[in-house]
Amino acid sequence: MGDVRAAVAAVVDPEIRVVTIDELGILRDVAEDPATGRVTVTITPTYTGCPAMDVIRADIRRALAAAGHPEAEVRTVLTPAWSTDWISDSGRAKLAAAGIAPPAPVRRDGVVPLTLAVRCPRCGSPETEQVSRFGSTACKALWRCRACREPFDHLKAL
Ligand SMILES: [Zn+2]
Repeated sequence: MGDVRAAVAAVVDPEIRVVTIDELGILRDVAEDPATGRVTVTITPTYTGCPAMDVIRADIRRALAAAGHPEAEVRTVLTPAWSTDWISDSGRAKLAAAGIAPPAPVRRDGVVPLTLAVRCPRCGSPETEQVSRFGSTACKALWRCRACREPFDHLKAL
């Protein structure tokens, strides 16, 4: 069972290839029916409008087939809705290393933070500006660093 979960957890996000679906918080559950051996994987999609979920489903099926479970079911659960808060610490570190600014945690108390500082993933400077609401995919916005002049992708916080 641990092997099955590990096989699924190792599936990488098709858009952000440096992080796994486990690190992004997309993977909710991997269950194996003790009687039939049938595996059910539960995932929660990230940003609506991201076409990546079909690819993720196919990749999960492929990983499970390779692990000896070709009959697996991939179930999508929308509640509770995925949030960028679900990205793990290792996922955030990998995003930063890849030049993608990880989203700041979303505050749940309704208080809007005064400054939405997005730090440059290359030099760490908070002197950044949004260039475009849409980066290389619908989930990312394009930002630029005023300190080192480098553009970078920023994952929109949800
Ligand atoms: Zn910079």
